[in-house]
Amino acid sequence: MRELSYTVATSANEAIAQFIEFDGAARYIAGGTNIYDLMKLGIERPGHLIDVSRIVGLDAIETDGDVLRFGGGALMADVAAVPNLRNEYPILAESLLKAASQQLRNMATVGGNLLQRTRCMYFRNGAGSSSAVGVYPCNKRDPGSGCAAVGGLDRTQAVLGTSEACTAVAPGDWPVALTAMDASVNLLGPNGSRSLPIQELYRLPGNTPHLEFDIEPGELITAITIPKTAAGRASTYHKIRDRESFAFALASAAVALEMDGSVVRSARIALGGVATKPWRATAAEAVIAGSSLTRDRAVECGRAAFADAHPGQHNSFKVELGVRVIADALFIAAQRRA
Ligand SMILES: Cc1cc2nc3c(=O)[nH]c(=O)nc-3n(C[C@H](O)[C@H](O)[C@H](O)COP(=O)(O)OP(=O)(O)OC[C@H]3O[C@@H](n4cnc5c(N)ncnc54)[C@H](O)[C@@H]3O)c2cc1C
Repeated sequence: MRELSYTVATSANEAIAQFIEFDGAARYIAGGTNIYDLMKLGIERPGHLIDVSRIVGLDAIETDGDVLRFGGGALMADVAAVPNLRNEYPILAESLLKAASQQLRNMATVGGNLLQRTRCMYFRNGAGSSSAVGVYPCNKRDPGSGCAAVGGLDRTQAVLGTSEACTAVAPGDWPVALTAMDASVNLLGPNGSRSLPIQELYRLPGNTPHLEFDIEPGELITAITIPKTAAGRASTYHKIRDRESFAFALASAAVALEMDGSVVRSARIALGGVATKPWRATAAEAVIAGSSLTRDRAVECGRAAFADAHPGQHNSFKVELGVRVIADALFIAAQRRA
């Protein structure tokens, strides 16, 4: 049996001091909805857990200033329920409300959501709880062991941002909406505080798929900030999945528009369910900017997003699905313009 110890931190500085004390063996735990799961699967093996769910103020939600600011410990359910979020920033509210279940959202935090790990079945199901080496090779879990998904059952795998070492999809919905909205992540760690654009939090797999996040050991997500913008209102998080609730995305699009009549002045588009990280579709944004929103143009915009797609054996449907998800999301968002 492996030993596991547990402490509670009541301030961010206390959490970081505890992390230093346990010298790299410690992990933070917030809602526990992902890390406990991974510990039971034998994928995460911390020697010590630091509970950050009782840090005073880490769950603060501020919407009055120039930015929206959500504490890293704010619950997904509480952020989704912020008054007017559904009207003024439907992209944010929908990305939370279409994730997991109400029970999970009552436990899970918006900070923990950013660092949840992939649902790739070879990553999750391949590990034995008593062995560090899994049943299936997985470079993300056991670096250098190979990737069973390449040439394997890859229906749910990524088509964008993949490498020969890994095709695992980034699982979260909320990070996709934050990517479209140019959010930043505030971090506090042993070396001080910093702010990171959300896109820089996530790494492409390349040859090192086990390195998923650009976060230093012991850094705590203290807050997520989102610049306020008029594009928030004409926005949506459109998610297609195998069943209508309680499922991860097969393909999703976070879209926020600035409209001038029927012309799209500018568009922000990010994709989920199809890529190895929350995916900003800049080529698609360029296609639709300055154009009247017609079905043909919307589909052309979608196709631009998937121009560099690399489907495997069983997931080429994600390209056509993704194109349609983007096209439909553009119309949903446009209908919401003030
Ligand atoms: C059945 C099921 C279905 C789900 N469906 C979806 C879905 O459709 N869409 C979706 O997006 N998600 C889904 N999820 C994932 C769920 O949203 C995440 O598990 C949850 O958001 C993680 O938050 P948490 O607070 O529980 O994190 P934890 O499990 O406590 O932690 C997760 C990771 O984040 C780290 N961490 C936590 N808080 C901080 C912090 N403040 N600073 C630094 N590190 C921190 C931990 O060390 C750990 O590595 C599902 C989960 C389950 C179990």
